[in-house]
Amino acid sequence: MISISVAGWTIWCLGVFVLGISAGSFLQVAAVRLPFEKSLLWPGSHCMNCLRPIAWHDNIPILGWLMLRGRCRNCRASYSVRYLLVELFAGLGFLGMFVMEVVLDVRGVGWWATYAFYLNSGLVPGEAWLIWSAEAVLFSLLLAASLCDLEHQEIPLPICLSGCLMGLAFSTLCPWPYPAEGLAGVARVVGNSPEELRFPASLQPWPMLWPLPAWMPPGAWWTGLLSGLAGALAGNLICRAIRAVYGLGRGRESLGLGDGDLLLMAGAFLGWQPIVCSFFVSLAPGIIMGLGFVLLRGTQSLPFGPSLAVGVLVTWFGWPWMSPRISWLFMEPWVLLMLGSAGLGGLLALSFLLRIVSPHDRPERIAPPGE
Ligand SMILES: [Zn+2]
Repeated sequence: MISISVAGWTIWCLGVFVLGISAGSFLQVAAVRLPFEKSLLWPGSHCMNCLRPIAWHDNIPILGWLMLRGRCRNCRASYSVRYLLVELFAGLGFLGMFVMEVVLDVRGVGWWATYAFYLNSGLVPGEAWLIWSAEAVLFSLLLAASLCDLEHQEIPLPICLSGCLMGLAFSTLCPWPYPAEGLAGVARVVGNSPEELRFPASLQPWPMLWPLPAWMPPGAWWTGLLSGLAGALAGNLICRAIRAVYGLGRGRESLGLGDGDLLLMAGAFLGWQPIVCSFFVSLAPGIIMGLGFVLLRGTQSLPFGPSLAVGVLVTWFGWPWMSPRISWLFMEPWVLLMLGSAGLGGLLALSFLLRIVSPHDRPERIAPPGE
């Protein structure tokens, strides 16, 4: 019995890893082509130097690069090691999310309590695959957006818009509190005081409103769709509000519109509360990356997309730890309203101060056409 389950888990882990490196390979093609509005499917992969098509066996993720030692078979032009690293990163990302979501149940869905028989025999229930695929899709979209942002300082709108639609589809398929504990979990939550609230984990860890109104019952598809829409709206609005307020005080641009589009997409998957939090979480990797950029490249124009992507993923998997500490923020509308206005007011004062302190900054990067 044990050997069967070990064999099962080995196959699943290998499978998601291979799927991840293939996704990484495809995403890099997308990241190269989308900023120039080229087709993703045609023409097939070709060498950027001699323009000859790359044979399928040389295009196998990771192995193709290793067998040819990162060179073109025809003209021996060398390919960046970045291709190899991104494929490996995507593979490890897919595998890592599978291990965290299903094997370790980091978000506390309760997979092992509900599906003990399946999981002990090395089988993974369909619900777990559905949630994992939502995570893998969001991870892939965030990776593609980050690659574009790092390379071109631009996040292509098609990635964010199609990602937003996919997020809304997943939200509709997995309305809160799906799949956690079913309606028993909801009954357990109702009637508790805000301090004791324990939301059952689902794709969207929290319901859109608390308490949910009667016309938005838990588990209804329209509840999921509306939560996804609220998340998309909140992600986009927080970026636009901060961009507008900072621009007003500082007299120059800060966040790009693409950053708002990225959170529009992620919000459609996660709902509005985690997205608002993930913006603030992403300030930490943002500051670290910003210092790195100043030291290494001597530039202050930092692509914020990768930091936002890290913020979203950290918030998602860190939610069981974060949520009891921050739930009071979201329980009362007036708390949120007061904090929001105080934050924006503080940002306005700070950005105005920055304008006075260093009025002659280096010129902004030239905005790419169509931004
Ligand atoms: Zn070549």
